[in-house]
Amino acid sequence: MRRVFEGAPQAILWLFAGSLHAQLYPGPITISIPSYLSYLAFYVLAIYMFLYGIWTPLRMLATHVRLRRFWHNLSRDTRLLGFLLLLTSWGYVCTVTWLHAGIVIGLASLVPLPFLAYTLRALNESQIELHRLRLARDAVQAMLGAGDPIPQMNSLLASLHTPTARETLQIFAAITPDETRLAPLATIGHQPTVEQVDLCSRALAELSRSDSPGVTVRNSNYTVFADAARSSDDELLGVLIAHRPATSAHLLARRRFAQAAADLAPLLRDFRSIAATQSAAALDALTGLPNRRTIMQLLRDRVDNVAFGNPCAVLLLDIDRFKAINDMLGHPAGDRCLRIIASSIARSIRSHDRAGRIGGEEFLVLMPETNSETAVTVGERLRSAIANSDINHANGDKVTASIGVAVASISDTIESLLARADHALYQAKRQGRNRVVETTH
Ligand code: GH3
Ligand code: MG
Ligand code: MG
Repeated sequence: MRRVFEGAPQAILWLFAGSLHAQLYPGPITISIPSYLSYLAFYVLAIYMFLYGIWTPLRMLATHVRLRRFWHNLSRDTRLLGFLLLLTSWGYVCTVTWLHAGIVIGLASLVPLPFLAYTLRALNESQIELHRLRLARDAVQAMLGAGDPIPQMNSLLASLHTPTARETLQIFAAITPDETRLAPLATIGHQPTVEQVDLCSRALAELSRSDSPGVTVRNSNYTVFADAARSSDDELLGVLIAHRPATSAHLLARRRFAQAAADLAPLLRDFRSIAATQSAAALDALTGLPNRRTIMQLLRDRVDNVAFGNPCAVLLLDIDRFKAINDMLGHPAGDRCLRIIASSIARSIRSHDRAGRIGGEEFLVLMPETNSETAVTVGERLRSAIANSDINHANGDKVTASIGVAVASISDTIESLLARADHALYQAKRQGRNRVVETTH
């Protein structure tokens, strides 16, 4: 019984195609390849007629979708209309050439078909690409509405990642108005390889140097397309990058891609002002280091990670007899001293360590993946850098700092860790200042 149900629509389609064929080409049926092929074309045509003329309208009726709306949508589906037109004219051309010019020319008329299929595929790819670019733009727009732009943008773009896509899309931008270096804001697709990153840097450098709307940089394996997002006065706000394997590079819809980059420009400008406000809120105005809130947040994330086997150490640094500088040399001299010490700290720590100003003349250095021995070494380096810097008390003595070291254990909370570091700092002060002391548990 099931076979009957499955076979019936097929049989109807064959019959329908047969009668259509017979109507258009009356006369005796000949058993030949051309007539079989033309019959096949009619069969495909019949399938589409059945799908769009009978089956879908019936389904629409069953699901209470108004037929008027269905026809309206269908009439706007240019792909369907194009396909029908193409199929009919192709069928016509083939039949005419077969009947009048013989089988060789008939078969020759099939030659354009692979090209046609190829063009359709390319068109389809560019449609998908455009869709993805629109999603990326929506992501930026959503990001602008959110309080914290960068993570929001990354997670939204990550959700657009399609594992089958063979290209990587990236948005690069200068994050603050006075910044000239373009940093990646978001990436869709596979992480670019070293080779791709290299091509990308070349493309970015070329775009920054010239005022051209887009550049293409390629080697034998990859092609990188870079399109500029510029402000109305031609300032480079950001760049939309597409990495493609060399084999599929030519399928990129370049003009549309450039348009998408241009559409990104106003969004990137807004993004930049949000980022500038945010970074101002995260930094200490006097020293430019992360402020208390920011460094504490970083510390909280680190302490939470200790349980996963990522050790972490903190240094608590307090300038010795700082009040005397203020009192003897004045508040501006005190401020200058704070700035010099802050930059001296920033220069002395490793690239993955972070330092912040957590109070008047107190600084915190956060050192991920660090054991107590290394922490003490870094502390010693900081202490000596400060003691040798060019700032003196009114009586000519060098300005120094005391440092407390604590290493986070699994049972630590941010409070218990800081209390230990504070205790060590207190010990350093008591033992005569200008020294590094590590806590014992
Ligand atoms: P100790 O060696 O025990 O640390 O002595 P100290 O004088 O450094 O410690 P104290 O806590 O008594 O003094 C800290 C001073 O730092 C008091 C405060 O007026 C000053 N201070 C806090 N914030 C600022 C600031 O932003 N600029 C300036 N110039 N001074 C500040
Ligand atoms: Mg203090
Ligand atoms: Mg002090």
